[in-house]
Amino acid sequence: MSYVDEVIAQVIEKNPSQPEFHQAVKEVLDSLRLVIEQNEDAYRKDALLERLVTPERQLIFRVPWVDDKGQVQVNTGYRVQFNSAIGPYKGGIRLHPSVNLGIIKFLGFEQVFKNSLTGLPIGGGKGGSDFDPKGKSDREVMAFCQSFMTELSKYIGADTDVPAGDIGTGAREIGYMFGQYKRLQNRYEGVLTGKGLSYGGSLARTEATGYGLLYLVEEMMKCHGEDMTGKTVVVSGAGNVAIYAIQKAQQMGAKVVTCSDSTGWIYDPEGIDVDLLKEVKEVKRARLTEYAAARESAVYHEGRGVWAIPCDIALPCATQNELLIDDAKQLVVGGCKAVAEGANMPTTLDATAYLQENGVLFVPGKASNAGGVATSALEMTQNSERLSWSFEEVDSKLQNIMINIYHNIDNAAKKYGKEGNYVVGANIAGFEKVVSAMNAQGIV
Ligand code: NDP
Repeated sequence: MSYVDEVIAQVIEKNPSQPEFHQAVKEVLDSLRLVIEQNEDAYRKDALLERLVTPERQLIFRVPWVDDKGQVQVNTGYRVQFNSAIGPYKGGIRLHPSVNLGIIKFLGFEQVFKNSLTGLPIGGGKGGSDFDPKGKSDREVMAFCQSFMTELSKYIGADTDVPAGDIGTGAREIGYMFGQYKRLQNRYEGVLTGKGLSYGGSLARTEATGYGLLYLVEEMMKCHGEDMTGKTVVVSGAGNVAIYAIQKAQQMGAKVVTCSDSTGWIYDPEGIDVDLLKEVKEVKRARLTEYAAARESAVYHEGRGVWAIPCDIALPCATQNELLIDDAKQLVVGGCKAVAEGANMPTTLDATAYLQENGVLFVPGKASNAGGVATSALEMTQNSERLSWSFEEVDSKLQNIMINIYHNIDNAAKKYGKEGNYVVGANIAGFEKVVSAMNAQGIV
């Protein structure tokens, strides 16, 4: 059995009931075979892959809090500090009822390679809880966030581990967590990113993941002789990533005709009205039915279905495993030329393979959604300098980072004879830097 297959088998055996983690490890290691086979003996002797797939530290803790009726609730908190070879652990906090250790480990593992690809000095980690902020009062969300941070604060710090937002963790939650950290540690430091502008946040962080996704897509299309003007784009999700992806795509002259949330989706042939979408999702925190009610051209459908709409470009921006093999087939039938992931691992392995086999350009999230964490790293730099840069300065750095990521993954794929395979390119480019740092630091 090859070293890669041995390690994949071990991961499945040692981490039962964690299918998302298995999926992420398999995707990465499969695409690294070319590199690993060239160094198989040395890597095996150093147990390099075993160390790469085993988090440096995993924290699981109780999060008790009191709801508005006086009832005590208990959630589970997680922080997986995956790999600090190239910098302090960095990665978001997900608050969603589906959160479990396997999901946090898959996200943390992906984060290691994504952070490496940004070219910035950040290691990989991820955290979260099965707490659902939906339908909770502000006081309940604050009570949860304070309790969560009371435990987490023992393990994080500006030079150790710097969490950020993710699904369910937006500006409100980051604010409550930052306040509690400062109170407990008596230190005003850049321990979290995604902060509000009045207390150390960075301009353009809110927009960064969605904008960054489009900067990368635009560069890729340019390198394939196309531009964004007049392109039809389908987007899933209606959260932070989706909203700013839609906005930037429209600024580039494309027409975005769909968005979705966890209960249904919108088809709006006139193009999504971003201001209305922000009002419904960011201000009212309501369902997309309210979008459809306020806009004549929009049709609301229950369930999922955005991938059935013919398009040039598809951008999955909601959650993991939301683009399945049948969706990939519909995209190909609908003439789709490019899929770039805004969410983390939204496309299943068989759907990815199908798209690639049918000539669709496919960019994995660890490259195409890296603009969020890259801008978080720029927030860390501004906090260390005690300075704030202008929107234009941050945005232009973001644009350069995304263009560089595209060329790095493109070149890495070409170097190993896999031109146009950006999954292989992203994994190899991310892996090479992490492995070089791990090797230099000895067996730790
Ligand atoms: P948000 O919570 O802001 O938005 C998530 C969106 O996806 C919402 O519209 C939500 O619907 C929908 N959604 C969530 N879970 C499901 C589900 N199980 N089925 C269908 N729809 C669902 O999160 P973000 O926009 O921040 O994150 C989206 C994705 O992007 C995640 O995979 C995240 O890890 C990834 N990502 C985010 C970054 C960031 O900077 N925010 C950076 C890099 C990656 P509803 O409105 O009903 O809740």
